[in-house]
Amino acid sequence: MSFELPQLPYSYDSLEPHIDSRTMEIHHTKHHAGYTAKLNAAIADTPLEGQSIEDILQNLDMNNGAVRNNGGGFYNHCLFWEVMSPSPNALSGALADAIQNSFGSFDAFKTAFSAAAATQFGSGWAWLCAHKGGRLEVCSTPNQDNPLMPGVACDGVPILGLDVWEHAYYLNYQNRRPDYIDAFFNVIDWGVVANHFESAK
Ligand code: MN
Repeated sequence: MSFELPQLPYSYDSLEPHIDSRTMEIHHTKHHAGYTAKLNAAIADTPLEGQSIEDILQNLDMNNGAVRNNGGGFYNHCLFWEVMSPSPNALSGALADAIQNSFGSFDAFKTAFSAAAATQFGSGWAWLCAHKGGRLEVCSTPNQDNPLMPGVACDGVPILGLDVWEHAYYLNYQNRRPDYIDAFFNVIDWGVVANHFESAK
């Protein structure tokens, strides 16, 4: 059994003007599809075949570059598509309280997350992670690493991720990564993030 590229729950053009259709299409059909195929090739006929992606990443040999890069790429993009929506649910409930408790305010969280995304040098990701008990933390990772991997970043469970590779924004935003980060906040589906928070805490 192998991993499959997930269908997006919305059309490529539905996140416009925040994320453009051509970027979404290339990102999904080329980049994410590529990570998926290479992950399947890397685990074929090894003990990793048949394990969940979470188990593979949590027990990863960090020297296994093929699984690190492509397993990370597979997982990270699955989460990324999921947490965005053309008709996003607002932040409320336990997750709103946890953001307040962990960061002091939503604006302080947004500032911290945006700074993590803006200052990740080169390619990588910004994360909002949950720890057991519900404490939240912002961190960033290079390349396709993520905090599920052993010893990586804040070691929490990612509940929100933002791709800051240039392939995620360059067609529309060129070098203006901060504008892309701002735009992302218009399409975050906090209902989906809250579901991940409930599972993770
Ligand atoms: Mn990407």
